[in-house]
Amino acid sequence: MKTSPGHDFKLNFHQLRTSYAKDAVIFRESDPRDNAYIIEKGEVEISTQRGGKKVPLVRLGPGEVFGETALMGPGRRSATAIATEATEVFTISPDILRGRIMDMDPLVGLLMSLLINRYRRWRYVSPDDAAKAGPVQREEENLSAVEHGDAFMQDLNRQKETALAELRMAQEITRAIENNQFVPHIQPIVSLPERKIAGFEALIRWHHPEKGLIPPLEFIPIAERTQVVWDLDMLMLKRACEIVPKLQNEMGGDNRRLYVSVNLSGVHFDSEDLSGRIGGIVKESGVDPSQIVLEITESALMGDPAVASTVLKDIRALGLRIALDDFGTGYSSLGYLHRFSIDILKIDRAFVQEIQSNKKSLDIVRAIVSLAKTFDLSIVAEGIENENEISALAALGCDCGQGYLFSKPLPADEALAFVRESVKKYG
Ligand code: C2E
Ligand code: CA
Ligand code: CA
Repeated sequence: MKTSPGHDFKLNFHQLRTSYAKDAVIFRESDPRDNAYIIEKGEVEISTQRGGKKVPLVRLGPGEVFGETALMGPGRRSATAIATEATEVFTISPDILRGRIMDMDPLVGLLMSLLINRYRRWRYVSPDDAAKAGPVQREEENLSAVEHGDAFMQDLNRQKETALAELRMAQEITRAIENNQFVPHIQPIVSLPERKIAGFEALIRWHHPEKGLIPPLEFIPIAERTQVVWDLDMLMLKRACEIVPKLQNEMGGDNRRLYVSVNLSGVHFDSEDLSGRIGGIVKESGVDPSQIVLEITESALMGDPAVASTVLKDIRALGLRIALDDFGTGYSSLGYLHRFSIDILKIDRAFVQEIQSNKKSLDIVRAIVSLAKTFDLSIVAEGIENENEISALAALGCDCGQGYLFSKPLPADEALAFVRESVKKYG
């Protein structure tokens, strides 16, 4: 998940604050357009010249925007802006806006491009404008802005395409759920260094009738933005509950209990009834709740830590366990760990990959392991691809590992076979 865009928003605007003395001209009619402005303090008068006389149009105060046509394309100012008292403004350059627009939800981008295009067309035919500037000049000015398409409009148009593609995809996902096209592939998690099976992680796959097997990164982010991720995650939870007894059976009875972990998108955390829904599914399946683990990321907790903390407590009260996924990549403010009810830390693949080549990664893993021990958490290292990584991780005291070295994520039937083989080989 991305870091909060709200943060750099403030930073940019802070840097671009300008003060004007009373009667200072901010821009003049027929100046080239550059920026738009938001009034922080003071007052600005917008006026125009008619027949050599100043005609005041409007006075604007704190929170109001002026000069916004600069954001919509090249051209010249059609009015003058003067500070009528000591005034402070934030400058919004087209570049800042463009950056923000590319960051936002494509659907918002789509609506914005629609509104801006309408606004431009409306200005184009505005009788007031036409009378003032003369029809020929206005026509040229507006056509050049629209036809040549400044970078801003190009970005908006790209957003529009993305938005449409996402809406189509969201609809396709909903249909694919009805048609049972989503299945979990499950990847073993084993003890280190013995390699005894501890559990599995369920990873969603889309069996698309035309496109084949689609990996989650191609649809989960879209599913998150369009809310359908909830249905996907609850579906995976159901599938996980179904497969636990089958896997356990292959272990040869109940002597060692394995678990299946399920990924839970962070966007669920503002839903009041998260634990209720999860509890309902687990109960209905009849599976022992301690054999289900929910994997969440740090960013999910950081949205509203107080709410997240309550949700996690409720989930644990149901008997399920919680794993913190991709640990080390997000906020990783180690101080908050004690605030949340967590059972397992999953160390991100990025650190495991570099554990031999990069001393810093080794130090980070060592710190995470010792921290986990302090809080009595078990640790799973993700993305183990070679034997040397096993020895390095085991030496640091890392309990469990997951990665291609042991197995790629497997379809359910192959996973059952894997359990049989593994128990024979490693116990
Ligand atoms: P994740 O939860 O961090 O899952 C681990 C990813 O690493 C999986 O990718 C897995 O196939 C891959 N992986 C495992 N071992 C290795 C290894 O040794 N080397 C390498 N290079 N990769 C390894 P996958 O299945 O493509 O899933 C990607 C992400 O999609 C997951 O990352 C998770 O964030 C998300 N995801 C998967 N299934 C679900 C789901 O049911 N619900 C939600 N909300 N997200 C899901
Ligand atoms: Ca995961
Ligand atoms: Ca992970």
